[in-house]
Amino acid sequence: MVRGALWLAREIGEGHIFTKEQVRRTFPGISQIDRRIRDLRDYGWVIHTSSDDARLRIDEQRLVKIGVPVWDSKARRAAAPKSISAKERQATLAADDYQCVVCGVAGGESYPDSPSDTAVLSVSRRTVQTPDGETEDQLVTECKRCRAGVAKDEVVDLDRLLSDIAGLDDTDQARLLRWMRRGRRGATPLDRAWTAYMRLPARSRDEVRKKLEG
Ligand SMILES: [Zn+2]
Repeated sequence: MVRGALWLAREIGEGHIFTKEQVRRTFPGISQIDRRIRDLRDYGWVIHTSSDDARLRIDEQRLVKIGVPVWDSKARRAAAPKSISAKERQATLAADDYQCVVCGVAGGESYPDSPSDTAVLSVSRRTVQTPDGETEDQLVTECKRCRAGVAKDEVVDLDRLLSDIAGLDDTDQARLLRWMRRGRRGATPLDRAWTAYMRLPARSRDEVRKKLEG
C-alpha cells in the first residue's frame, strides 16, 4: 500500500488518470496490488473509477485527492481505521434490535419495495457530536443498501408502487398527490425530530430518550 501510495503521489499526481495496466507494470508480481490501492480510500484518498465518473473508461481510475501520507508510519498509525470486534458488533446489533436504523429492515428480511432483495446488516462507525460539544465514534447498525446509498443497479417497480398507492385510503391518496405536486413531502417538525432520532446510534437514542423522560 505504501509503495502504491508513493507511486500515485509522485508519478501520477492529483487530478490525473492511471490504468490497471500501468499499476500491474509498475508492481509486477505483487498480488492484490489493486486491492492495496483501494485500501488507500480508508486513509482519505479519493480515487474514482468509471462507476464514480462516467468520463473514465472501465480500465481507468483518477487520483482525485491524496489523503493521509501513509508512507509516514506515524501518520498511518494515527489514521488507521479502527476495526470493530465481534463482541462490539453483536452488542450493537442487539441494541438496534437487529434492524437497520435508517430504513428499519431486519437482517434476512426482504425490502418492501424490492421483495427479491434480502437485507444484509452491517455495523459501522458514526461520528456523533454529543450535547457537550465533544465528538465520539459510536457504532450503528445499517443495511447494506442504506450504507451504500441507493444501489446503482436498483430496478424500481412502478407497477408495484402504483398498486401500493391504489391501496391507500382516499385521504392518504389526496395527501400523497399534494406532496407530489409540491415536489416534496411536507415533513412536520415532529417528523423531522423522529427521523433524526431514529438515525442515531443506540447509545445516543438512549441518551436523548432519558433526557426527555427526565
Ligand atoms: Zn436500511
